[in-house]
Amino acid sequence: MSKLLVFGIDGLGYDNALQHFRQYMPNLNRIARENYCKRIELDVAISPRNWVRIFSGRDLEWYNLYVKRVRDDVWRLIKVNELGVRFIWDEFPGLVVINAPVVIPPVCKNTDFRPVQYGLPFTWFEAWRELNGIRRSTLQAIRQGRSVIAVTTVVDRMLHITGNERVIRRLLIELDEVVRQVVERSRERGFDFIIVSDHGMRRISGESKGQIVPRHDMPYIRTVVKAIHEHSNDALYISSIRRDVNSHLDVYRVIRQTLLNS
Ligand SMILES: [Zn+2]
Repeated sequence: MSKLLVFGIDGLGYDNALQHFRQYMPNLNRIARENYCKRIELDVAISPRNWVRIFSGRDLEWYNLYVKRVRDDVWRLIKVNELGVRFIWDEFPGLVVINAPVVIPPVCKNTDFRPVQYGLPFTWFEAWRELNGIRRSTLQAIRQGRSVIAVTTVVDRMLHITGNERVIRRLLIELDEVVRQVVERSRERGFDFIIVSDHGMRRISGESKGQIVPRHDMPYIRTVVKAIHEHSNDALYISSIRRDVNSHLDVYRVIRQTLLNS
């Protein structure tokens, strides 16, 4: 039975992908037309919580931040085992997992990919490094005939702090080419595929440049203090598997069923 490629695109909503920015993503739009495509309407647009839904089938109502309070104004990063859920990669230990952002830094398994800047790429160079590292490691897993989950965070991170149309265009054209390559290579090898996002992004500022600063308590992590886009409630789902999907929990069920059959 089929192996599976899950390609996650943090922050690429249905409306941006298929309407507002469609001219920058011709390959993704063609793939959407030729396969099952759905606009998933969300109740919450919270990145880590929605990725946990997609990769564990569980909804952690409390999980809105990657950080946990230690005392007063002292915080630290949450570790993946503190979430108390069994992820899809715990059930299928042979899965290749590249940059799954259920925590910071994102989860990697059976790969030599390492997250760029804790999974928070905010500059063009960091985004380019993440995207190309993910491309390389995903294509390697496909060549080896292994089911693979890969997630890029570049759209969420970069759109938070830019409204510059040239930067957005360059980023999405680069991403579109990565999508084309991983989908085509996986199809040639008989894989099924799922493209999924955790939420969309919508413009909230007329300015073109936002601002990030190092966190006061964890200076190796930068945080957005002036946002140009914020999260929106439209997630994107495209798949070669023609099963009806209406929520992120449905996406989890399709992933699990496909891996059970593979
Ligand atoms: Zn996100």
